[in-house]
Amino acid sequence: MIIDSHCHLKHGDAEGTEYSADEIVEVMDAAGIDRSVVFAMQTTTRRSIELASVAVAKYPDRLIPYVYALPHYDRPVLPELQDALEGGFFGIKIHIGECRLREHISDPVFDLAAAMDAPVLMDLAGDLGTAKRLARDFPDTKLIIAHLGQYKGTNEPLIDEFISVAEHHDNVWLDASGVVMAYMIAEAVNRVGAERVMFGIDGPHPKPDPVSYAEYAIKQINMLKIADSDKEMVLGGSVQRLLEM
Ligand SMILES: [Zn+2]
Repeated sequence: MIIDSHCHLKHGDAEGTEYSADEIVEVMDAAGIDRSVVFAMQTTTRRSIELASVAVAKYPDRLIPYVYALPHYDRPVLPELQDALEGGFFGIKIHIGECRLREHISDPVFDLAAAMDAPVLMDLAGDLGTAKRLARDFPDTKLIIAHLGQYKGTNEPLIDEFISVAEHHDNVWLDASGVVMAYMIAEAVNRVGAERVMFGIDGPHPKPDPVSYAEYAIKQINMLKIADSDKEMVLGGSVQRLLEM
């Protein structure tokens, strides 16, 4: 089974690109993806719940919802996150880009995630210090480091350090989406184990076209010099285990 662990109903790009459940499932069918973790970002927590709820209601056997955590002036967000997790959402997405992840922003979310036993998929944009602090201070929170630490990162020593964070903390998983140095995914598997490395498309993406983009991400895993059983684990087994599906 192939499970995409990182798929956007709404992206964090400048345009705030949105994709419908139909568009996402169409790409999944064409690329051979069985299930996808879906979430919206660059929007309120409440709206992220609405978007994912609508998508999952239409494709309950294909789509797996995460809720987006973003502080709000008008209303507290933690109860919204908790309601979503109690109502069938599987995890939390949080991103350093829309709101810096200082302690008062990240820590209440990490406490809630531990209490609810829900993973936090976090885009750290290369902020190694924050990754180390959260991994160390929240041993009961399952932290998924997006993009091996930095989206399309080419700073090999930095990516190496993020892999080390997962090596030293068994509450840390590595998301292999949006990775250009594919050999670092193999490095992560060798050092951390395939059970804690997970494949994702970070799509849909229009170039060259959404299906080719998804197929390329799968191919990137299949081309790695790792055991076939490890490829299967990265392509779906690891997220399946993490989410206890
Ligand atoms: Zn993403």
